[in-house]
Amino acid sequence: MKAVKFGGTSMSTADSILRVAEIIKKDRDRRFVVVSAPGKTDGEDKVTDMLIGVAGAKGKERAERFESVVSRFIALCDGVGLHGALDGELAQIKKALPSASYCYILSRGEYLCAHLLAELIGFTFIDAADLVKFSGIAYDDDLTKSVCKAGLKGKLGVVIPGFYGSNENGDIVTFSRGGSDVSGAIVARAVNADIYENFTDVDGFMTCDPRLVPHASTIDVLTYKELRELSYMGANVLHPESIFPVQKANIPIHILNTFNENASGTKIVPTEEFLAGGHSRKNHMPITAIAGRQHFFSMHIDKSMMNAEIGFVRRVLSCFEKYGVSVEHIPSGIDSMTVVFTAVDTETCNSLIEAVKQEVNPDHISLSRDIALITIVGHGMKSRPGTVARAINRLSHANINLRMLDMGASEINLILGVSDSDFERALVALIGEFEV
Ligand code: ASP
Repeated sequence: MKAVKFGGTSMSTADSILRVAEIIKKDRDRRFVVVSAPGKTDGEDKVTDMLIGVAGAKGKERAERFESVVSRFIALCDGVGLHGALDGELAQIKKALPSASYCYILSRGEYLCAHLLAELIGFTFIDAADLVKFSGIAYDDDLTKSVCKAGLKGKLGVVIPGFYGSNENGDIVTFSRGGSDVSGAIVARAVNADIYENFTDVDGFMTCDPRLVPHASTIDVLTYKELRELSYMGANVLHPESIFPVQKANIPIHILNTFNENASGTKIVPTEEFLAGGHSRKNHMPITAIAGRQHFFSMHIDKSMMNAEIGFVRRVLSCFEKYGVSVEHIPSGIDSMTVVFTAVDTETCNSLIEAVKQEVNPDHISLSRDIALITIVGHGMKSRPGTVARAINRLSHANINLRMLDMGASEINLILGVSDSDFERALVALIGEFEV
């Protein structure tokens, strides 16, 4: 049995909603459906963005702004042949609007969309407020686990709105943007689904950036760990928090494209062991994907006998903590260490350097503001000699200076630092080397 989530683009027009209905009907296992609010179209904004405008307005203006949301849903109802299907719900929301909270208003896109789809496919609507629980404004996973499991027990053929839940006071609370992915994962875990299908508008995760490499292909299978590495470098097909509920329950995620049924999508499996089972990869290359990001800073610190100074690294890092700067990597030598961190403003940077000088009294300290990081990801690298050598050789042949190298003991990712100006060339060279 499957839990299925459809994103905003899939729910954006009457045609796409009819398509979603077809997809659900095609597979009897698709019994638990989670939906986002209708997304952007050529002429219209995302419903959630429209609702943000509604929530930001007061009194008459709030009611007026809500009218465009009403028109959008009426057109969707008409388009799928369900005239007036949401009239009751819309009237109720209008009534609540003057004193409604921000989260309540934002959540109505998913609420209405789920009602519409449930009606269209003859499934039962179950409100996310009764399944997904918050404590104040913080998501409460333990409580949700039991409430959601009990709420869905014995049910078949259910549509649930994504993106929100409710707290102990009965108030609606939303996740961060894109949070319907999380709702889908919560539902998948609650019903112990065999798979969590996440329908979106892309074919899946790509082996590399298709803007740089036109022949980039879709990755057929990824592990959660590989996904984490890629998401860190900016691959954002899924909400980052959508993984944890299904990962613990060993449920794979399948990214599929509503608009391209021929695409087999990307499966994300909980562990490396799954790669050997029914989810094995078509491609047996050691590398699964290569991704990168520019504009990191790096601080290079030299001090002789650094290795003998107990607590040196901790004291350096305490300065970064003091200024709230996120540290990305710390490659080190015997008498030197480099801290790679996300770009910060000049004032913070200067304070940071001063703080490190005070704290550890280095012989020399310097800062670069032009570091790009490239990560080569793949379980296939593990225990296979030669990957690092190939990467370095390729960069050297392309006359690209390697400024940093970091490989964790997990051996599933290799991180290379080059100058921002060499970023694209390095990425293309590495993609060529590993044929991803
Ligand atoms: N509708 C919400 C958003 O636009 C949640 C979601 O689509 O997942 O962020």
